[in-house]
Amino acid sequence: MAGSSGDKRSPGGGAGQHPELTPAEAAFMRLGSAVTRLPGVGPAYAARLAPLGISTVGDLVYHLPRRYLDRSNVTAIGSAAVGEEVTVVGRVSDVDSRSTRTRKSMLTVTIFDGTGYLAGVWFNQEYHKDRLAIGTQVAFSGKVEFKYNVLQMTNPSYDVLATGEADPDEKAEGIHTGRIVPLYPATAGVTSAGLRRLVMTALDAVSGMADPVHPGVLERFGLMGIEVALRETHFPGGPETLKAARRRLAFDELFIMQVGLALMKKRRETEAVGIAHGHPGELIAEFRRSLPYKLTDAQEKAWAEIAADMARPVQMNRLLEGEVGSGKTVVALLALLLAVENGTQGALMAPTEVLAYQHARRVRAMLSHLNVSVELVTGGASAAVLERIAAGEVDVVIGTHALIQERVAFRRLGLAVIDEQHRFGLAQRIVFEAKGANPDLLHMSATPIPRTLALTLFGDLDLSVIDEMPAGRQPVITVVSDPGQRSNTFAMVRRELERGRQAFVICPLVEESKKLEVKAATEEAERLSAEFPEFNTGLVHGQLKSEEKREVMQRFEGGQIDMLVSTVMVEVGVDVPNATVMIVEDADRFGLAQLHQLRGRIGRGSERAICVLFADPQTEEAKARMEAIRRYDDGFALAEADLHIRGEGQLFGTRQSGLPDLKVARLSRNLDLVRRVRRAAFELVDDDPGLSKKENELLRWETNRRFGGSLQWLFHA
Ligand code: ADP
Ligand code: MG
Repeated sequence: MAGSSGDKRSPGGGAGQHPELTPAEAAFMRLGSAVTRLPGVGPAYAARLAPLGISTVGDLVYHLPRRYLDRSNVTAIGSAAVGEEVTVVGRVSDVDSRSTRTRKSMLTVTIFDGTGYLAGVWFNQEYHKDRLAIGTQVAFSGKVEFKYNVLQMTNPSYDVLATGEADPDEKAEGIHTGRIVPLYPATAGVTSAGLRRLVMTALDAVSGMADPVHPGVLERFGLMGIEVALRETHFPGGPETLKAARRRLAFDELFIMQVGLALMKKRRETEAVGIAHGHPGELIAEFRRSLPYKLTDAQEKAWAEIAADMARPVQMNRLLEGEVGSGKTVVALLALLLAVENGTQGALMAPTEVLAYQHARRVRAMLSHLNVSVELVTGGASAAVLERIAAGEVDVVIGTHALIQERVAFRRLGLAVIDEQHRFGLAQRIVFEAKGANPDLLHMSATPIPRTLALTLFGDLDLSVIDEMPAGRQPVITVVSDPGQRSNTFAMVRRELERGRQAFVICPLVEESKKLEVKAATEEAERLSAEFPEFNTGLVHGQLKSEEKREVMQRFEGGQIDMLVSTVMVEVGVDVPNATVMIVEDADRFGLAQLHQLRGRIGRGSERAICVLFADPQTEEAKARMEAIRRYDDGFALAEADLHIRGEGQLFGTRQSGLPDLKVARLSRNLDLVRRVRRAAFELVDDDPGLSKKENELLRWETNRRFGGSLQWLFHA
C-alpha cells in the first residue's frame, strides 16, 4: 500500500479537480502528499522511510504502533515476584556470552532499573547481543525466575526503548512521562522515537481533516471520528480511548476492503465478460495419462468445478483451498493446460522465488513430453523472455510478484493462478488480473479457513475444497520440547540422517530485522555443521541471491544436502518427500497457521515423520498454541482452535493475524461485526456503483489510496 501516487494527484481520480474543496476536504487530501512536504523531512530522510513503506503523509499517519508500553503496568525489579509474568524497564549493565557444557551458547543480558538487577537469558540466540549493548534502555517481558541467586527471564520478549548513544530524538522523548508509549516497527536510520515525532508533524499537517466515512455509518457502528482515532492510536490518552481508536481503524480496514470487493463484484456483474475456454481435450487427456498417480476424489471434484467455470463465458473467480500436501498444484496445472489448449496463456504467481523456481522446474518436467512451453519470470527475467511472452510464444508463465511489473505483458492471458493467495495483497492480485482482459482467476490457499469466514472475507469468490490427502500419507508426529532438551533431539536427528533421511531446521522469526534473522540462521548452520561433520549442512535465507537459493534448494531436493538450515522462507510449497524431520527453533514465536504450513513440508513420503518444536512459551496464549499444534494434525481443526485461542487472547496484536490484508482488524473475534460491516459496504456500492456521488468522493479517494492506486480503473468518473 505504499502510496506511490505523487503529490497533488488525487488517487480517487477527479476529486482534485473540484475547485470547491472545503478546508476540511483539502486537509484530508494532504494524506496523499509526499512526506518531503513535511517540515524537516528532506530527500535523505525520505529514503530512510521508504523501506518502511512510507512515502506519503498518509502512509505515515497509518504507520501504526506495533505495540504499546503501558507505564502503569511496569514493575520495579525490586518488587518483581518470582513466577509472575511482568514487564520491567532498565538499562543494560552487562552482556555476557559463553558456551554451556552441552555446546549451546548462552547469552545473558543484565539490566538495572534503580531498584534491582534482572538478567535476560537466551540459548543459541547470540544475535540479540547486537541490539542490547551496554547502556541500551530496554523493556523485558516474561516470567520471573530465580536461578543461581539472580532474578532472570528466559527468552524474554523485549523492546529497545533507547540506544545508549547520544540520539536527540530519544533524549527528548520522555519515556518516563507518557503513560502509554507507542512502539513502532523501526528500521535502519529511523528510531521509534524519531517516528513518533514525525507522526506528530504529519498529524498536524492534516489537522481538521474531513472523515471519509459518513456520519450516519459512524453513528450506526458507534465509532469515533478518524482524526481523533489516528491521534489516539499514536498518542493514547488512556486505555479506553485507545481501544475505541483501534476499533475505528479496524472498522475502516474492514469497511474499505469490503467496499473494494463490492466495487469489483459490481463490475464483474455489470460487464460480465470472460473467456469461454472449451472443455478438456486431448492435451489434458495425455497429461492425465502421464501422471504417476490417480487423482483423489477430492482433486477430481475440484477440477470438475474449475473446468466447468472455465468453460463458461463468465470470468472465473475461484478459491481452491486444501491442506499443505493435498495436491493443489496438479489441479492448477490441469487448469493451466486447459487455458493453453484453448489458445490462451496461463500464468501462476507464487510468493517466493524458491517456490516459483520449484514450480517451474516441476511443471517443465511434467510437461516436457507435451510440447508446452514454460518460462520462469523472477526479478531478473531477460528482455528476450519477456518479448516471447508478449508475442504469445510462451504458453505457461510461472513467476513471483515480478509478474506484475509493468514490463511484463501477455499476448492473451486466459488464466491467472495465485498460489498461496493470502501472501499477496489484494492490490497485487488486482494488478495481476489486469494483465489480461478478464482472465479466469484461480486463487489457491493452504490456510484452512473455515467456510463461513472464507465467504465473508473473500466475498466474491467461489470455493473448492480439497479435503482429502493422497493415499499412503502418515500423520506427522509433533513434539513440543523444552529448549534445554537439545541433545536428545539432535540424537534423533542423527539417527534419521544415518538412515539416509533429510532434515529441516527452521530458525527463529525475527520480525524486527531480516538481517538478524539471517545472522541467526548463519550461526545455527555453522554450529550444526561442526556438530555433524559427517553430514552435509546447507543454508538458505532471504538475503541470498536467487541463483544461490536455487542451487541450495536443488541440492537439498537432490539429496546432496542432508540437513537444511533455513529462515521461514521454506514455509510454502517446497516438496522434498525424503525429508522426515523438522526442527523449529523458538516455535512459540510463530502463529499456528505458519507452524502448520511449516510442518507440512515433512511427511510427504510414506515414511513416518517427526516435527520437534522448541518452545518455552511464556504466556497462556502461547502455551495454548503449542498444545493445539501438538494435538491437531488436521488444518481445519487447528484453524478452529486458532480462532478460539485468539478470541481469548490479548486485544490486539498485528503479529500473526494470518488473514489477508488486514493489519488492525481481528476478524476472528467478531464474525457478526464483519457481516454487518460487509452489508453496509455492499449497500453503499449498490446505491452508488462507481462511488461517483459527491458525498462519496472522499471514500472513493480513500479506497483507492488503500488499494495502492490500483482501483483507479474501476472509477469511470
Ligand atoms: P500442495 O500444493 O497442495 O501443498 P502439492 O501439489 O505440492 O501439494 O502435492 C504434494 C505432493 O503430493 C507432490 O509430491 C505431488 O506430486 C503429490 N501428489 C499430488 N496428488 C497426488 C495423488 N493424487 N496421489 C499421490 N500423490 C499425489
Ligand atoms: Mg502448493
